[in-house]
Amino acid sequence: MNEQKDKIIYSIDRLADEMTRLALAIHARPELSFEEHRSAAALIAPLREAGFSVTQPLAGLETAFRATLDSGKPGPRIAFLAEYDALPELGHACGHNLIGTASVTAALALAQNPDAFSGVIEVIGTPAEEEGGGKIIMADSGVFAGVDAVMMFHPREKNMVARGALACVDAVFKFYGKAAHAASAPHLGISALDAVIQTFVGVNALRQFFTDDVRVHGIITHGGSATNIVPAYAEAKFLLRAATSGGLQSVRQKVFAAAEAAAGMSGARLAIEEGLTYAERNNNLALAALYQNNLEQLGLTVEAPPERGGVGSSDIGNVSQITAAIHPYLRIGDVIPHTPEFAAAAGSFAGTQTMLNAAKALAMTALDLQISAHLQAVRDEFDAWKACRPSAGEK
Ligand SMILES: [Zn+2]
Ligand SMILES: [Zn+2]
Repeated sequence: MNEQKDKIIYSIDRLADEMTRLALAIHARPELSFEEHRSAAALIAPLREAGFSVTQPLAGLETAFRATLDSGKPGPRIAFLAEYDALPELGHACGHNLIGTASVTAALALAQNPDAFSGVIEVIGTPAEEEGGGKIIMADSGVFAGVDAVMMFHPREKNMVARGALACVDAVFKFYGKAAHAASAPHLGISALDAVIQTFVGVNALRQFFTDDVRVHGIITHGGSATNIVPAYAEAKFLLRAATSGGLQSVRQKVFAAAEAAAGMSGARLAIEEGLTYAERNNNLALAALYQNNLEQLGLTVEAPPERGGVGSSDIGNVSQITAAIHPYLRIGDVIPHTPEFAAAAGSFAGTQTMLNAAKALAMTALDLQISAHLQAVRDEFDAWKACRPSAGEK
């Protein structure tokens, strides 16, 4: 096994210059969610050249793809997930150029060592992580069915392999009132803005009754157009989060009730536009332990994730409800995601070095899953979680 892992490390060292150029090329031309045409094409090209068969579009998404290499021998189906979308104004301030390239690099290294694996190796290109929940759409359309394990890495300020993430959903509350002169005839108007304000007051009153894991945060996206007109239209956007999808449902009910009550009190009409529900992350700890062991073999030190708080949400949560998944974080510098400093780190030497280490550990973990005891442990953990998973509404 160690000899095979050495060959994988050697392959990635040989691929390093080409893959660094690839990561930097994607970094230099950031593309927003669902518009990642050039980035997807750049990631697909070396896979196609290495003999992977490519399906694109996938799940009705033009910038999603699946690249498959079948060894022809029975074995596990292992998928590396590629992200490649950027953020408005900030570019690759979440480092998804490094995520996509690491997954492609791991797959290419395995393709160069066909004797090292049985089964199927895939790179699944998952667009629109930042805005749009690409993986949720793909999960719902069956893209991850039959995949034994799903892996990716995410750049960050520390090395952590099994950090959690919250379930979440966004909702836009649109209030329709009635315009009137705000001084001479206010009694003829209905203030949609009052309904927005009372929604915030109601949500704040609810906070005492939320469990500690819950996060509810909103902004006013429209608050009227002139001070001397009673606002006929106002709008607020909220993001609701909880530790589990079941817990999220009860938060959703309470917050929606607050918005409805605000509408009733002010006389405005309410329309709610709800986004996709992001499931909580179910880290497969057996798979995470294999990945951690490989990072340590590469000389990296892994820190324990924070016991409480400090987490967001991601669309890999929905994938982790379907199959065994890990989403480890690796350090690219003293930088926090979604900042200009993070974007700079994602295009730096440190960033691309981290990407190459991530790729090595991904490919080495795929080799670990060739050992049936490891694969079984990963499957057993997922099956045990599935069997006792709380159903919606419970928590
Ligand atoms: Zn992000
Ligand atoms: Zn990200």
